[in-house]
Amino acid sequence: MEIVDIKDWGLGLSEHTLIAGPCSAESPEQIEAIARGLKGSRVEMFRSGVWKPRTRPGSFEGIGEDALEWLNIAKDILNVPVTVEVANAAHVEAALKGGVDVLWIGARTTVNPFSVQEICDSLKGVDIPVMVKNPINPDLQLWLGAFERLSKVGINKLAGIHRGFSDPYEKRYRNKPEWSMPIHLKRMMPGISVICDPSHIAGTREIIASVSQRAINFGLDGLMIETHHDPDKAWSDAKQQITPDTLKIIYDNLNFRESID
Ligand code: PEP
Ligand code: MN
Repeated sequence: MEIVDIKDWGLGLSEHTLIAGPCSAESPEQIEAIARGLKGSRVEMFRSGVWKPRTRPGSFEGIGEDALEWLNIAKDILNVPVTVEVANAAHVEAALKGGVDVLWIGARTTVNPFSVQEICDSLKGVDIPVMVKNPINPDLQLWLGAFERLSKVGINKLAGIHRGFSDPYEKRYRNKPEWSMPIHLKRMMPGISVICDPSHIAGTREIIASVSQRAINFGLDGLMIETHHDPDKAWSDAKQQITPDTLKIIYDNLNFRESID
């Protein structure tokens, strides 16, 4: 299987790519405020959830398909590709129709081979990069399996996202990082890029900077950081989102020379 490195996706991404944007799209005004805040930063791709897989019912589950067109606002302001999470074939179809540039598969979906296969079947004959978050449990085989399924349907622009693992005894992190896991993945699938999602590892904004630095130290290929113009008022993951200004400060203070890869 041939895998194309993130730098060669044709999207202008760099070696330490930075992806930013809100946990969830809430309104066109919110997308515009965040994109304007990110202007002048190093952001190379804009993220936003429109379908939100919540672990328990009763909280905001995303605007859905209608929010896809709002992402064009961010695209116009920042001139960068946009990425959304897809969890089934209907999401893929809507995202492709809506002009989404890159898809990502979330941790609650990677865990289920039937769901991953459904997504793969809907991607036959389509050339689009797909990023795959690690499954919620620390199972490298499931993560690898998702890449293999995608590769079998011809998707070769692939990247992993390390977002940590559920651990009921973990107190410091929302999702415990297991740095050996992305390193193993990179060894087993030569050429694959693996970035880090410090937001879902941290769960609180205070430790986003230290988790980001650790990801760089372990040789990961970039960062995806949840960013909101008014984080405390975010409709999902309020505690872990940071403002565009904070993101700029965090990114500018990262030390890329310490990388040990
Ligand atoms: C997200 O990125 O907003 C998300 C739902 O993440 P995860 O799949 O890592 O929980
Ligand atoms: Mn989130």
